[in-house]
Amino acid sequence: MKKLTAHSIGSIVITRQMYCERCAKKNHPTRDQQFLVHGQKGFHIRTVKRYVEKDNKGFTPHLVAFYKGVNNTHISFSRVCGIVGCGLTIGKDPEGKNKMIFTYKRVSYEQMSVKDWNCLVLNKDLGYFLD
Ligand SMILES: [Zn+2]
Repeated sequence: MKKLTAHSIGSIVITRQMYCERCAKKNHPTRDQQFLVHGQKGFHIRTVKRYVEKDNKGFTPHLVAFYKGVNNTHISFSRVCGIVGCGLTIGKDPEGKNKMIFTYKRVSYEQMSVKDWNCLVLNKDLGYFLD
C-alpha cells in the first residue's frame, strides 16, 4: 500500500459528497475515476467502482475541513473536490520511495453556521459506498 503524504487544508478533515460545478460540466464522476478521501486512518486514493449515472453528475466526494471560527455563530471551512485532476493532483513523492503526494489545485473557503457544520460532521452519507 502506497503511503500518502498529508497536506493540510485545516483541522478536522472529513469527506462528504458535495456538488462540483467543474465536474458537472465534464459529466464527472465516471467509473474508474480516482478520488481522494479522508477516513479514520488518514488519506486514501480510491476508484469509482459503482456509479448511478442519472442525476448524480457533479456530486463528488469533497475533502472538507474546519478552517477557523468567524464569530459566535459561524465558522469558515475549506473544501476541495476529491476527484483527481479536478480539485487535486497526485504524484510520486520525489523524496520517498512508494510514497504518493497530493497537491490541492482548487480550494474554496466558505462559511456556514456552527449548527450546520455540526450536522455536516455528524451526517455520514450511508448511501455512499467505498469498495
Ligand atoms: Zn470536481
